[in-house]
Amino acid sequence: MKISQVFLYDEPSVPEIDIKHISDFIKELFGIDVKIQKNILSFGDDTIAERIASCRVFNPRRPFQRHYPTQEEIQFEVRNESDSATTENIIMYDGFEFQNIISELIPKEEQTFENLHIAFTNKLMCTYDYNDYRYHGRALIGSNPSIISTTGIIEAPAKPREYYMELISNMTQGLNLESVKRKYSGRYLEYHDKRLDKIVEGYVLQAMFYYITGEAFCDSLECRLHNAHWQKDLLYSQLEVGRFCDKHQRILENL
Ligand SMILES: [Zn+2]
Repeated sequence: MKISQVFLYDEPSVPEIDIKHISDFIKELFGIDVKIQKNILSFGDDTIAERIASCRVFNPRRPFQRHYPTQEEIQFEVRNESDSATTENIIMYDGFEFQNIISELIPKEEQTFENLHIAFTNKLMCTYDYNDYRYHGRALIGSNPSIISTTGIIEAPAKPREYYMELISNMTQGLNLESVKRKYSGRYLEYHDKRLDKIVEGYVLQAMFYYITGEAFCDSLECRLHNAHWQKDLLYSQLEVGRFCDKHQRILENL
């Protein structure tokens, strides 16, 4: 697949994403045109809040069932309160349902094979996995449009095992959880983490490679296309390594 233009849809509630920087990053690496757009949901009409609220997931152990949202849930979307998410109060959305909705918001004349649309969102995208019969958080929903979820980047790759162990043991003993979080701070991404800026570049690359080659991910930790299941691996591949493996570097050069 040949891309001639990338449309980037901003998520202003996550100021760590510097959309201009990402646009320059793509232009420089791929030599293609980039158009910066407002948040994708601002292209919708009055019904958009209700439609988004209807893709909420309430039972992570069951496949998607259409939700009939309450007024309160609709108002939550009108006020775009996902930006006050914390690990404790997170809301899950079905990633493919969300993708269908935003796909309808993109003007028909801009929906061509040569235009790749990448939307950033602060909402946690999830997909149901029939291998273990449950929903999982996702940082990237590939294809066109692609969705990159900043909350997914923070919540989907797991934190260190010891972190969860200590959290559970502190919880059962009624101790303060903040001290555990402080102890492991820096070893995983937090909300409004400065490092998000660089990390999202990696997900943009994965979205683009997936669209161009049909394969988004690389098995090698020494590659920005690595699909990290652990925060440790994500930080390593994107920040310490920060480049492609030899195989993907060659693919990039031959595009
Ligand atoms: Zn690679």
